Amino acid sequence: MATKNIYWHPKVLCSGWRVVSRARLLFALFGLLFFMNNMAGVVYAQMKVHVDHAQREQGQFFTVTVDGVPSEPTLNVMGRSLRMFRHSGSLWRAFVPVENTTPPGKYRLSFREGEEEQRFEVTVTPNNRPIQKIQLDSSKTGLHATEIEKSRVKRALHTETPEQLFQGVFRRPVSGRTCSLFGLQRSYNGGPVEGYHKGIDISASQGTPVRCTAHGKVVLTGAVENGFLVHGNTVIIDHGQGVVSVYLHLSAIAVHEGQSVEAGEILGNAGHTGISTAPHLHWGLYLYGTSVDPELFEGFEL
Ligand SMILES: [Zn+2]
Repeated sequence: MATKNIYWHPKVLCSGWRVVSRARLLFALFGLLFFMNNMAGVVYAQMKVHVDHAQREQGQFFTVTVDGVPSEPTLNVMGRSLRMFRHSGSLWRAFVPVENTTPPGKYRLSFREGEEEQRFEVTVTPNNRPIQKIQLDSSKTGLHATEIEKSRVKRALHTETPEQLFQGVFRRPVSGRTCSLFGLQRSYNGGPVEGYHKGIDISASQGTPVRCTAHGKVVLTGAVENGFLVHGNTVIIDHGQGVVSVYLHLSAIAVHEGQSVEAGEILGNAGHTGISTAPHLHWGLYLYGTSVDPELFEGFEL
């Protein structure tokens, strides 16, 4: 304490000592600044990367976070560059979809920020979805997606709003049972497999209210009379940060484009417009434009 008093109490210091002590003080301050600067460098240079699963099936997704970096890290996965979105402070997040057609095997996730790069290896396993044979009656057999339908749907599915609009748990849009799983390979009227089922079908009688799965914004409403011949009456919702939900084959649409919608708000009514064999709801969830199994979201908070 005595030493401290000598250094810091001006009354007991001669002028010479005061000069020395000021020089020491400045030196100490510069040292502290240099140390803090280096500390900041150390914090930002050490990305804390977390990948929630080592292994996922086709049609599922990985949740990845990077903490401790001031600006958006670059994320490369399976030959594709994906945006990461700010979750809070220096924490960045992305939901990495595994396309249903991704061959099973090992893949690399690579994270880069500035000079630092970290790599993680993950495994994709097969979901072994069977082939579903569908018989369409003559009124639906000749239907093909129109150019306007294809281009508008594609654009809406790739919406990447930086803000997180969804909050809380994702809800099932109607309460019926799942009558067709995500990822089933589909063959129509005895023909070859033509793609896979990019959502789930939920049993719902004609006119059942269809409710929004989570908070978001309507990015597309498409009607049969405006060329939506395959999807039927369609609503697509942007939930922010690359998460988009779709509702197809509706008998009626109750919202308009640009409208903000709450979780549970009625978007329209179930029906069987477009290529559909009976009234039901087709519900899809997309990440960066890639379809994943919507049942992974139901009842969960992202
Ligand atoms: Zn469907």
